Amino acid sequence: MNTTVPDPQSIPPFRIGHGYDVHRLEAGAGVVLGGVHIECPYRIVAHSDGDVLIHALCDALLGAAALGDIGHFFPDTDPRYQGVDSRVLLREVVGRVGDAGYRFGNADLTLIAQAPRVAAFVPAMRDCLAGDLGASVGQVNVKATTHERLDAVGRKEGIAAHAVVLLLRR
Ligand code: MG
Repeated sequence: MNTTVPDPQSIPPFRIGHGYDVHRLEAGAGVVLGGVHIECPYRIVAHSDGDVLIHALCDALLGAAALGDIGHFFPDTDPRYQGVDSRVLLREVVGRVGDAGYRFGNADLTLIAQAPRVAAFVPAMRDCLAGDLGASVGQVNVKATTHERLDAVGRKEGIAAHAVVLLLRR
């Protein structure tokens, strides 16, 4: 993959990116979503801390900058990322996107979870993510929906997230 920094004048002024992630849920003592610990009778099964919302956000940022995906930079076979706080990965991605000639515009994130219920934690997630993005809270939207009990996510076997990001040329 070509990840060389392009000539800034060749970069369009606006760049959109999309990210998606899913992880399995199992019985446990809590999850981390959007950088916020939520006590609940579940855990997310993952090599990292399993923060699907941050993983989707990272992929949207990398996608908008045409830098590939999160698995390219942080392979789940690398012991350095065992149990890693996904906020560390997000800050690294933000740095790489900046190095490629972009600044953050806005993000719209959708968490799909039958469990746990996250609505009460959304303001804290926005604060946390905006901090890591070097942005204001108004640039980061977090939505949450159930899966209407349909399919694996609806049976509480997993949790998923989508992210859309707009980057601006610096
Ligand atoms: Mg993931």
